[in-house]
Amino acid sequence: MRIIAIGAHPDDIELGCAGTLAKCHKRGDTIYIGILSRGDAASENMPGENLAQTRLNEAKKSAKLIGAEIMNLGFHDFSIETTPQSMKILTEMIRQAAPDLIITHYDQDYGSDHNNTCKLVLDASLAATVPNISTQTPSLPKIPALYLMEPLGGFGFQPEVYVDITETFPTKLQMLNCHESQIAWTTRQGGTDLREYIEVVARFRGYQAMVKMAEGFIAHKSWGHIPPGNLLP
Ligand SMILES: [Zn+2]
Repeated sequence: MRIIAIGAHPDDIELGCAGTLAKCHKRGDTIYIGILSRGDAASENMPGENLAQTRLNEAKKSAKLIGAEIMNLGFHDFSIETTPQSMKILTEMIRQAAPDLIITHYDQDYGSDHNNTCKLVLDASLAATVPNISTQTPSLPKIPALYLMEPLGGFGFQPEVYVDITETFPTKLQMLNCHESQIAWTTRQGGTDLREYIEVVARFRGYQAMVKMAEGFIAHKSWGHIPPGNLLP
């Protein structure tokens, strides 16, 4: 199977679904990680340009652990907007990945970058199949399935599908650990240790699913995006 996980910022995929992607990697899937922004805002001591390069390197290091390829679209933080131009850029990315399954943000997450990413992915996954929306890569034959991952803090999110990540949690943690600059930032900024955060969430979702650790997902309820059966491992 071909999968693309699309996040607004360089560490979003690690937080939301890296345990599941590691499991997909084990079963032989081809995995892409699409990142919309350059992650150039979250620092008080590094200029945006340097931070963006650092964060891209961190994301690539992380992706390598599950044999995934990074696709970075180069938007600025706090500037992901639902415009026809942005939608077209995402359409081309989705066409290049040619996924059976897309994982992205829940549509009621904590900020516009995340929520707008969800909206853009929804439209772009449809547009990717429409030949008259012309981009560099030809249109796809089929609309990919779409799953939404846990928002930050889990607010309002009731998973419908649980993936047992007990065996791949160490890989998820290892991937997150690649994002050194972001771990340091959130610890300084609001006292949140992201490593502790992912463990608490995975344990809680694990309790719900009667396994040690889990990640939760919702299938997007829209025509064309619901897969027959469960595409997650
Ligand atoms: Zn984010």
